[in-house]
Amino acid sequence: MAAQVIDGKTIAKQIRDEVKQTVEHWRREQFVPGLAVVLVGDDPASATYVRNKEKACQEAGIYSEVHRLDASISEDELLRLVHTLNQRPDIHGILVQLPLPEHIRSERILDAVDPSKDVDGFHPVNAGKLLVGKPGIFPCTPLGVIELLKRQDVPIAGRHAVVVGRSNIVGKPAALLLLREHATVSVCHSRTPDLSAITRQADILVCAVGQPELIRGEMIKPGACVIDVGINRKPDGKLVGDVCFSEAVHVAGQITPVPGGVGPMTIAMLLKNTLACAQLQRSSV
Ligand code: NAD
Repeated sequence: MAAQVIDGKTIAKQIRDEVKQTVEHWRREQFVPGLAVVLVGDDPASATYVRNKEKACQEAGIYSEVHRLDASISEDELLRLVHTLNQRPDIHGILVQLPLPEHIRSERILDAVDPSKDVDGFHPVNAGKLLVGKPGIFPCTPLGVIELLKRQDVPIAGRHAVVVGRSNIVGKPAALLLLREHATVSVCHSRTPDLSAITRQADILVCAVGQPELIRGEMIKPGACVIDVGINRKPDGKLVGDVCFSEAVHVAGQITPVPGGVGPMTIAMLLKNTLACAQLQRSSV
């Protein structure tokens, strides 16, 4: 039997509607959440992501502003902008779109963002909070993975979750969030010698590698829930995930498609994180 295909678009829409309702309520109390997005250079993919984020904010009633900066901006100038945004009471979330030009040390910029405005959840303070199990702001894509599982009623506690990929943006935080939900978690990466021996044990398989269709049908445990974070463009222009969907759909119990799975969740969780940051600052005044 073919797997149930998890509809990330519909679930993301539900979340965006929930965010919109909260914002409407806050606006009636004269409180408007605000997000500042910083875009450096003219990378077309980044420009598209930023436009989508701007549009999503607009639809949700969140105030947003985009700082479009020339690629030649110095690290110090960019730092000054981040410091200014940190001080602004009308800006509750700050997002620095990655990648930054090579002459700018991304780490220095990301570390300068006030952790309570860190809507991407990349600041070491928030990463530390995730590690030790404290409340904080956590990365949007892995949060989206957990939200998909929960809204699909996929049990997590006590199940074996295997995360393929160990980046700071997706793999590691996804593993920690699954651990928080009481899964037994394994993390695989480029040095894992026999990947399929581990992936075949997964009740929940999260793939965040960036290699088209790396995970074949025979690497999946029958009935597993497969969450494909990967977004890869094939030479013919087609978007595919890290999982070979046409094979996996006959083995998995549930599976996310690419596009239309995890992708739409990332922006929905960004809006949620913006509200979480706004709430943090609202309750601290
Ligand atoms: P990354 O390049 O930072 O990390 C990739 C990880 O994969 C590394 O930890 C590496 O060890 C591991 N890896 C590489 N080859 C491997 C192999 N053969 N076997 C096992 N592990 C291997 O990438 P990232 O930023 O974590 O992104 C991963 C994918 O997720 C990319 O396709 C990216 O486009 C996508 N992504 C999607 C969203 C979304 O919104 N859906 C958000 C972020 C990233």
